[in-house]
Amino acid sequence: MTVYNFAAGPATLPNEVINKIQAELPSLEGSGMSILEISHRSTLFDNIINGAQEDLRDLMAIPDNYEVLFFQGGGTGQFAAVPLNLATDHHRIALLDSGHWADRAAKEAANLGITVDTLATTKADHYQELPVLPAPLATDTYDYLHITTNNTIEGTAYHELPETNGTVLVGDMSSNITAQRYNVSDFGLIFAGVQKNIGPAGVTIVIVRKDLIKEIPHLPSILNYDLFAKKNSMYNTPAVFSIYATGLVLKWIKENGGVDEMQRRNEKKASLLYDYLDHSKLFHNNVKPADRSLTNVPFMTGDEDLDKAAIADMTAHGLMSLKGHRSVGGLRASLYNAMPFDGVQALVNELYTFERAHV
Ligand code: PMP
Repeated sequence: MTVYNFAAGPATLPNEVINKIQAELPSLEGSGMSILEISHRSTLFDNIINGAQEDLRDLMAIPDNYEVLFFQGGGTGQFAAVPLNLATDHHRIALLDSGHWADRAAKEAANLGITVDTLATTKADHYQELPVLPAPLATDTYDYLHITTNNTIEGTAYHELPETNGTVLVGDMSSNITAQRYNVSDFGLIFAGVQKNIGPAGVTIVIVRKDLIKEIPHLPSILNYDLFAKKNSMYNTPAVFSIYATGLVLKWIKENGGVDEMQRRNEKKASLLYDYLDHSKLFHNNVKPADRSLTNVPFMTGDEDLDKAAIADMTAHGLMSLKGHRSVGGLRASLYNAMPFDGVQALVNELYTFERAHV
């Protein structure tokens, strides 16, 4: 039985990458040493980290006036690092509350003594559509505006960015980095854990405009953009294996046509599933169509027991990790870059079989 992994993250990786890791695990490039044991101060690793940075620059068309940094600590680490490094003039940020992860970012910034103005929220609508700015953003008031480009749990995504009126835009791109095309220069800073679209857990990418990086006293070194930029992300021991595997996934994306092709494939996969759901007599997705995510699709029957039975049925057919997040319930299919079209086809076929048996 072919198994397809619909987990929200850590998530499915390309088979070619898993096979390459397996093949080179005992001896990296004939060195007689494994990636699991080489020094981050070795030429071997220098080539790996520099290659990963270059490939990401290429794929996302990252302009030269941006740094590409690798941190540990996940998106959660960046909920603290971003305000600590960027909210230094006004000590005030604006935020669009589009769901769980935006709320986490708001709470972390507030914990650090930053004033957080939540300018719009769709909480009352269970985040089934995106919040929009109620009025043009006040100029010279905020250090930045924080958005979550893709809401992993609620299944929404910004296909068009809010107009910031000159305010720096910060994007949490954890669940759609390289899965759809954004213009990097629309952002002052982008961050993303790699564990959904581009690698195994362990490394968090920060793409930041160079003029926003400042020397700030009293900052924990591990969150310090200036220090990490000066030390090529190796101020301390980086997540060696995760950076290596991420580099392999980025190469796989390049070989498979780059970000535009990933987006084309993701659109094709997502529309197959949304089309089915919109016609189904059993399952439904409640997200406003214009705001629907390409990478995370929550859906449900409206009956918790039936949802559970559906998840069990899918699991028995090799369609794994479809349980929805507890805040939304139901099912959720994550359709990241490495999920093949055939996986989504298999899912839709099995959902339809289940539907026929239950309506
Ligand atoms: N932001 C988004 C959009 C996420 O989906 C997640 C994780 N699911 C996070 C932030 C938090 O990431 P981490 O678990 O790596 O801290």
